[in-house]
Amino acid sequence: MPINEVLQIEGRFWDIWWVPLEDNVYLHYAVDVTKFKKMEEELYRLATTDSSLNIFNRRYFIQELEKEMERAKRAGCNFSVIMMDIDHFKDVNDRFGHNAGDLVLKIMTETIRNRIRKIDVLARWGGEEFIILLPETDVESAAKLAEDLRKKVNELDIPEVGRITASFGVACYRQDDTVDSLVKRADDMMYEAKTMGRNCVRYSSLQSPQ
Ligand code: GH3
Ligand code: MG
Ligand code: MG
Repeated sequence: MPINEVLQIEGRFWDIWWVPLEDNVYLHYAVDVTKFKKMEEELYRLATTDSSLNIFNRRYFIQELEKEMERAKRAGCNFSVIMMDIDHFKDVNDRFGHNAGDLVLKIMTETIRNRIRKIDVLARWGGEEFIILLPETDVESAAKLAEDLRKKVNELDIPEVGRITASFGVACYRQDDTVDSLVKRADDMMYEAKTMGRNCVRYSSLQSPQ
């Protein structure tokens, strides 16, 4: 059986082979695969990020959420999800143009990224809707963070546009959750925030049975 491994040596990647020819005699060779490794990394980046905002996309978020659910099931730890949606964003586009709307999205996601931890996962759920995975965070702490984000977003003074607001929904993981059920709970809370008048945080205190 040939032995094969890829090794990283001083910044370059080598595909290394040991092919048995006869007893204790091997053909050993190495191919420099740095170029292909870099291409692979770039393809992975493209497949997992929203290129216009440089944050993760929905596909990556779901993958991470599935992993976090597995971890929570095994280790019994808790985590939460924040769903947020910019208020009356259609009006922003209609009044100031699509480019101004794009700038709002850029500045707002930068603001959020700077406020959350490295282990948190910020992703674009769709259009002007964003979702954040918060490992090891109970629903009250997540709601406090969402409130802080709400204030920070509301304090932004965006060139040409001025002030914006966003509505937030928060939910924490329950043991019987699926990706869809957890996201739906956060989404339902976000819609409740919309119906409560927008620019507010709503959270579901539904937790796993003890
Ligand atoms: P609500 O407060 O109920 O959320 O109202 P809304 O106007 O924000 O919601 P609606 O779903 O009616 O409109 C969302 C708008 O977001 C419409 C769409 O053109 C805009 N949008 C989605 N993605 C982008 C984007 O990448 N750039 C810009 N500029 N606009 C976007
Ligand atoms: Mg909206
Ligand atoms: Mg929306």
